[in-house]
Amino acid sequence: MIWTHAICRKCYEKHEPGRAPVRVPPEAGAAPETCCFCGSDSEGGIYYRAHPDLARFCPEVAAEARGKLA
Ligand SMILES: [Zn+2]
Ligand SMILES: [Zn+2]
Repeated sequence: MIWTHAICRKCYEKHEPGRAPVRVPPEAGAAPETCCFCGSDSEGGIYYRAHPDLARFCPEVAAEARGKLA
């Protein structure tokens, strides 16, 4: 299953070199978030579709993994 994850600018550039991220502007509801890929603070509003294995800091992936174990 592929999810859309919050991502910081640094990680986005790692995944998509040379491509500008599509960013939801703060006035459209973007708020600072935690990057699902490195666990550091993101300015928010940048999202990236990726396999959950790549999003090691994603709280949703962690919840899903716990669900599988339970
Ligand atoms: Zn995520
Ligand atoms: Zn990051």
